[in-house]
Amino acid sequence: MKAFVMKKIGEVGWVEKPVPECGPLDALVKPIALAPCTSDVHTVWEGAVGERTNLTLGHEGVGQVYEVGSLVKDFKPGDKVIIPAITPDWNSLAAQAGYSMHSGGILGGWKFSNVADGLFGEIALVNDADGNLAPLPEGLDPADAAMLSDMVPTGFHASELAGVQYGDKVVVIGIGPVGLMGVAGAVLKGASHVYAVGTRPNCIKVAREYGATDIISYKEGPIDEQILAKTGGEGVDRVLIAGGNNDTFAEAVRMLRPGGAIGNVNYLGEGEFIRIPRVDWGVGMGHKTIAGGLMPGGRLRMQKLASLLETGRLDTSKLITHRFEGFDKIEEALMLMKDKPRDLIKPIVMVES
Ligand code: NDP
Ligand code: ZN
Repeated sequence: MKAFVMKKIGEVGWVEKPVPECGPLDALVKPIALAPCTSDVHTVWEGAVGERTNLTLGHEGVGQVYEVGSLVKDFKPGDKVIIPAITPDWNSLAAQAGYSMHSGGILGGWKFSNVADGLFGEIALVNDADGNLAPLPEGLDPADAAMLSDMVPTGFHASELAGVQYGDKVVVIGIGPVGLMGVAGAVLKGASHVYAVGTRPNCIKVAREYGATDIISYKEGPIDEQILAKTGGEGVDRVLIAGGNNDTFAEAVRMLRPGGAIGNVNYLGEGEFIRIPRVDWGVGMGHKTIAGGLMPGGRLRMQKLASLLETGRLDTSKLITHRFEGFDKIEEALMLMKDKPRDLIKPIVMVES
């Protein structure tokens, strides 16, 4: 079968691979809709997780079950499924401790396009199928549902990490597809003010549609200064980070009230350290929490988030700006993600209709 891979740091391409062997708990899935991710860009072009050889990329998609292992109970060939980007080992101690995303070691639930072949193959292997696959609800567009693999659960996780409460003032740094889901998630959790930070016009328009009350450009001066000016010097309750760089944390700490929290889901691709401003952090006693987390994956989360699409509480179609037809368009879609044209939010590749 054909697979689109990271050949080594800085190089991608197509290779032939054998069809994966389906273990007793696994499923083999043929893709229907696939999306490339900014994380693939960090992994390939920044070498953020280290060297990889002929690793199949991709971790966002909807597919059709092709084969199931002998112990899989809930799925059969032909079923249409949502595949989460994070596919933990559900019988692990980490999962029992409530941190399934770290099963098998830190970030161990992130298998696709990291430590195992991802979804950009003609057939992909999904571990722990009953625990990780979710049935695609009748009537949901597979392209919209593919946003449930990673964009929705990651963006929403920023709000979970920061503990957004009713009436909170929330800054969302970065309004690419992840940050936009940060905006939507904060609004669903009851934020009163959402200050969205970004500059791409499409992203700004969609951020407003998802409920951002203010737009801030990081190109027009430090974000913290702009936020402090807008809040009469008081700062905000929560800062969600879905973009920026290692210095963004310093800005986030400065704009946060005592008792506030930062929820980071940004993938820090470069540098060795993150610096926290000592005085703004209350010389170590400011009750300004900094949390960062890999989004939880798995079936239940997929099902719950899909129910928001079913009832119309969340519309992920706004994220999709570029649509490609055919498996061989994966490369073009990924390069788009790398080059980030101004009108891009998220591309999708439809493999079958
Ligand atoms: P995008 O590149 O589409 O968006 C990044 C956003 O950050 C843009 O709005 C951009 O603004 C803004 N930005 C860029 N530089 C700065 C800066 N200096 N200060 C403030 N904002 C800035 O990324 P995605 O939405 O696709 O992904 C966001 C991050 O989330 C990535 O790092 C990705 O790898 C990570 N991620 C993490 C996951 C997890 O489980 N934790 C899972 C999936 C993704 P502009 O409008 O000007 O472009
Ligand atoms: Zn992703």
